Amino acid sequence: MPGLRTCSMLLWIACLWLTSLPAFASEIPLNQLEPGQINQMIRLQVLHESADPLTPEQVLTHEDWQAPEVLPANFGYLDHAVWYRFRVRNPEPVRQSNILIINYPMLDFINLLEVRQGQALLIAEAGDELPYHAREIDHPYFLFPLTLEAGEAREFLVRVQTEGAHLLPIELWRDRELFVKLGHEDQLHAVYFGVVGVIIFFNLLIYVALREKMYLYYVCSVFMFMLFFMLMRGKLYPILLSEDPAFHKTLLLLVLPGCLLFSALFSREFLSLPQYSRALDLLCRCIAGSALFCMACIPFLTAQMSLKLSVAIAVPGTFLLLLFGPLLVLMGNRNAWVYVAAWSTLMFGSAITAMSKHGMLPVSFMTEFGMQIGSALEAFIFNAALAFRFYREHQDRITAQQARLKENAERREAELKLVQASMSEPVTLLPNRMCFERQITLELARREARRLGVGVIEIRRYGEIKRSLGHHNTDLVMREVAHRMNQWFAAMPGLIVIDGPSFSANICALEQGTFGVLVNADTAEHDYSPVSEVIRRLMKPIEYNGMRLTMNPSIGIAVCPEHGVNAATLLRNAQVAADSTEAHEKTLAYYRQDIDQSNARRLVLISELRDAIENNALELYFQPKWDYQKRQVVCVEALLRWHHERYGMVRPDEFVALAEQTGIIRALTRWVIDRALSYLKRFHDEGFNISMSINISALNLREADLGEFLQTTIKKYALNSADVYLELTETAMMQNSQVSILKLANLRKTGIKVSVDDFGAGFSSLSYLRSLPADEIKIDKSLTAYIATEIQSEIVTRKSIEMCHALGFEVVAEGVESPEMIELLQAMGCDQIQGYGISPPLPFDELLYWLRHQSEKVCL
Ligand code: C2E
Ligand code: CA
Ligand code: CA
Repeated sequence: MPGLRTCSMLLWIACLWLTSLPAFASEIPLNQLEPGQINQMIRLQVLHESADPLTPEQVLTHEDWQAPEVLPANFGYLDHAVWYRFRVRNPEPVRQSNILIINYPMLDFINLLEVRQGQALLIAEAGDELPYHAREIDHPYFLFPLTLEAGEAREFLVRVQTEGAHLLPIELWRDRELFVKLGHEDQLHAVYFGVVGVIIFFNLLIYVALREKMYLYYVCSVFMFMLFFMLMRGKLYPILLSEDPAFHKTLLLLVLPGCLLFSALFSREFLSLPQYSRALDLLCRCIAGSALFCMACIPFLTAQMSLKLSVAIAVPGTFLLLLFGPLLVLMGNRNAWVYVAAWSTLMFGSAITAMSKHGMLPVSFMTEFGMQIGSALEAFIFNAALAFRFYREHQDRITAQQARLKENAERREAELKLVQASMSEPVTLLPNRMCFERQITLELARREARRLGVGVIEIRRYGEIKRSLGHHNTDLVMREVAHRMNQWFAAMPGLIVIDGPSFSANICALEQGTFGVLVNADTAEHDYSPVSEVIRRLMKPIEYNGMRLTMNPSIGIAVCPEHGVNAATLLRNAQVAADSTEAHEKTLAYYRQDIDQSNARRLVLISELRDAIENNALELYFQPKWDYQKRQVVCVEALLRWHHERYGMVRPDEFVALAEQTGIIRALTRWVIDRALSYLKRFHDEGFNISMSINISALNLREADLGEFLQTTIKKYALNSADVYLELTETAMMQNSQVSILKLANLRKTGIKVSVDDFGAGFSSLSYLRSLPADEIKIDKSLTAYIATEIQSEIVTRKSIEMCHALGFEVVAEGVESPEMIELLQAMGCDQIQGYGISPPLPFDELLYWLRHQSEKVCL
């Protein structure tokens, strides 16, 4: 931990200072001697030089020599030189090759003098202020060879002057053992520097990869500490600018605050201080700032002053940084545990080294290298944490990347869906009007001489189906219709496929219940049979939930270039054709100018209908219902006709719908009721005891006074309620069904009969029929039309008749056109029949004539 590293440094320095306090020994205790170390330095004495330098002669005769209070001698910062005096002796009978070692490589000047016959002679000079090559033995420590003959004793003086901490760890060793010991030490240092070097390199790589400042700060702080350690051990001197002592001095001055600076920066990042506490973050930045301040002061201060300043700032700074660990643990920062753990190993290692130096622990490998081991352990713990963090960040990054990829994919999917949604119709999922128009434009551009046909297929019952079955069911039905149509059109020659957002289709959905097709008109018109086949299929009812639904499609076609040369016009004209009466009658119509005028016609009809009612421009036709059992006409159905001045005969299908849309239906129905009943009276008067069927609209059921009006009218013409049938389509009954059923039930209570019209045309559900308050069911002509030709229609009709009977209804078949049908229906047990096969709807007089003269001729 870098902060702790500074701390250990300080601890080390502090320990060196501490040793200057009164101590216990003046000679090295025997138990602290290492193998090879010789306890022959006897009577080591110390003399402080006063302000003026002393000559060796003055020193020899000086009276202030004193035994040092501690060993090794340690005086902290001194501004004067200190003389040391000691004797060495060889008690052995053989010659000894010894080495005097001062293993504190930071001393500035060391003079070694030998005292011989009362004279002091300079025998060697050393110190880190001198170039490296001046050393007698090439080693970072100061080594002086000292040979002692058998029994010889010699006396020495050492003068030490230094700006830094003044301490003199001086020892005498046998040369061989010393070199072995130094060799071991060098090996251990090499391992240590190797480990630190790898850590630096590793973290530098991470920094390059991640560009995260924290790793750079860590690298810098480890590097600073390594430099500091090398400088303290003199390791850098022999290898880097060894002739320039000033460089090493300055480097040392830089390294101490540098260590603090990077430790502070690193701690800030590692502990995420800005996130946890603004106060601690500020404090941390102040520590880094003061370290920078120390560095900036170096050129202006003496080396000693600068060192003192650094220590003065580093001591409180380091302890504060140390304090951050436990504080952040309390704040719940999990990284802070690692910080504290790493700190503990280094502190512990440094402490045992310091304690052994202080004589509190016996010297051993652990105590000698405690600090390095602690520092290596610290680096290990810390590096493991960083590696783990790197791994975690890597994982986080992968997760984030995956999340990003997922998010992108989701966005793309959402966009695609959006595009699809904007290009497709939501119910059928077919390409929509936009796609269709685009495709038309595209085809027009590449048309060349070809003719392009735009078809619009309208499901005319759509609105009715929706009102009766509800949105959900209608959607399902439309989906089915779209699916089938898409298949049917595939076989059509000259069909142009419509490109959707993610698929192509043979048809498109222009709006709900309206579809579009695009064909090469020349090819399609070449052979009409496929078109007829599609139409035939479209006309057939669709089975849905036990109901048979007819779609009543009408197809409008506009061809380019005859009917338009752009998409909008073609589409509009095809729509006009599909809406035309011609398309309603014949299912398919080409656009024509006069059809277009039908729109105008619609407007004219709407505006003139009210007048037509008031001016009696409307007329009633009557169509008989023939009863199988009675073999006679039992009832006539009143059917509206409008003889329009301009348009001729206007069919009720066209104007009844208009009346419904414009609210005229109330007046219209009442006009019909009044007229129909007046005619019924006349039929009775003419001797035909028949009933009258009157068609009413679903909207009429909402009129509160309908029943009342019926009763008054019945009374007005002195008729019987039982002779009046109200015909209402099943669809109409299903609308607002609760109210309708109640209303019909009430009408029935007055004796009026209720007839379910067009059964089988919409969405007839036999189960639903059961709940209807009706007397009679009229099977629609779309169902009966095929009984003679299609076995399926025959079965359905037969079953319907059976079911209706089972439910207690009378059954009337509509649209009976041929003698076979009359026969078949009789075989099926049908009660009554109606249709062109009996008689078309006729004006009153004509029907009267028919009743009188032809009704018996009904072919049976
Ligand atoms: P609807 O009630 O189903 O009337 C039967 C329609 O079928 C009539 O058409 C009739 O002319 C026609 N028809 C009769 N026999 C045959 C046949 O054998 N084959 C074929 N293909 N058709 C046959 P119309 O008169 O054009 O009436 C159409 C519809 O207009 C009626 O259908 C009815 O729903 C409505 N409508 C007619 N008059 C009135 C009215 O007074 N009030 C109301 N609300 N609706 C009316
Ligand atoms: Ca009818
Ligand atoms: Ca009918």
